[in-house]
Amino acid sequence: MSRPQQITVLGATGSIGLSTLDVIARHPARYQVFALSGFTRLSELLALCVRHSPRFAVVPEAGAARRLQDDLLAAGLSTRVLVGEEGLCQVASDPEVDAVMAAIVGAAGLRPTLAAVEAGKKILLANKEALVMSGALFMQAVRKSGSVLLPIDSEHNAIFQCMPLDFSRGLSNVGVRRILLTASGGPFRQTPLAELAHVSPEQACAHPNWSMGRKISVDSASMMNKGLELIEACWLFDAKPSQVEVVIHPQSVIHSLVDYIDGSVLAQLGNPDMRTPIANALAWPERIDSGVAPLDLFAIARLDFQTPDEERFPCLRLARQAAEASNSAPAMLNAANEVAVTAFLDGRVRYPEIASIIEEVLNLEAVVAVDDLEAVFIADAKARQLAGQWLSRHGR
Ligand code: NAD
Ligand code: MG
Repeated sequence: MSRPQQITVLGATGSIGLSTLDVIARHPARYQVFALSGFTRLSELLALCVRHSPRFAVVPEAGAARRLQDDLLAAGLSTRVLVGEEGLCQVASDPEVDAVMAAIVGAAGLRPTLAAVEAGKKILLANKEALVMSGALFMQAVRKSGSVLLPIDSEHNAIFQCMPLDFSRGLSNVGVRRILLTASGGPFRQTPLAELAHVSPEQACAHPNWSMGRKISVDSASMMNKGLELIEACWLFDAKPSQVEVVIHPQSVIHSLVDYIDGSVLAQLGNPDMRTPIANALAWPERIDSGVAPLDLFAIARLDFQTPDEERFPCLRLARQAAEASNSAPAMLNAANEVAVTAFLDGRVRYPEIASIIEEVLNLEAVVAVDDLEAVFIADAKARQLAGQWLSRHGR
């Protein structure tokens, strides 16, 4: 085999970042870590640098960079520390990099991910918020640079694997009738509605099947995660929102399905472990070991399906409306959700208020066209401001 592929992992200290490094470490002849980034938990970033000896590490500000640089030198490493968004964009687009794992959470990942796209890198996309915010521009940039875009989100990776072969070569999704996007229903699938006003961040983050970062865990509880994924699926697979149906499947064994016009329905199954989609995307179109245990169908015994209840999951309705409205609506939805979820995790708002905040923001601001990245960030800032006003008005 030729030289190992050089991989940048944006958001290396997070749940997806760590799973990515676990898979990479299983294949030292195939992959080498080029750069790692972290935002908090910088002592963990140091430990990851010691383990993977990257060429670069990226941290949010100069003071943290000096401390990490000193610690790296003391550990005998030549890793260079870069700072902030500029540093992230640099390691995402460096000519030596082959693939970029985009695993920063939220809107903060958009510019570095786009920098990787514009540089024509292979993109392993976990940061769904980036695509939700800027879908049309993002996909245009992918087409222009010829970047290979591989979904890491387990549902989208499943759909990708079930798509016609030609699709992955950028041809078409002819013959696809519907995409069936599965959802576990999260920790509150059966909680009495009256109790939802009193659930804690810890309860919201205790996902029954997946271990994830705190923001996406709350999104999974509210099913905003599925709403963002609906928008993500429309961009990745050139589908209309009406072609994407959400199916609650509590076991999280079927990761999604594609329904064809001849009646064939293809599904991808596996244990709920993100190392499967990560290994799939890293090695695509080949297959490599991910460390995930083989699926034991006899232990699972049954697979259940339900329709989502919109009264229980208003965020899903709001996301579908934003998907239909398109233009600036998904960026507003995403930003309002980020503010509301942060406030919920800080104990400043109750769980049902997450949906109230987002709904108010979407009702207050008209949907406008977004022709460039600046317009996306204007919509994002406006939604954050309106969500902030909701919080001040309610004394939070
Ligand atoms: P996480 O909170 O565990 O990790 C987030 C990473 O982003 C960390 O490395 C953190 O340091 C970094 N980060 C946070 N804020 C930042 C900022 N402002 N600037 C730069 N870096 C910042 O989150 P996660 O669960 O690993 O999720 C990462 C992304 O992957 C999210 O977009 C999420 O929706 C998506 N995703 C996650 C899973 C999962 O199983 N965890 C599954 C599908 C998709
Ligand atoms: Mg998912």
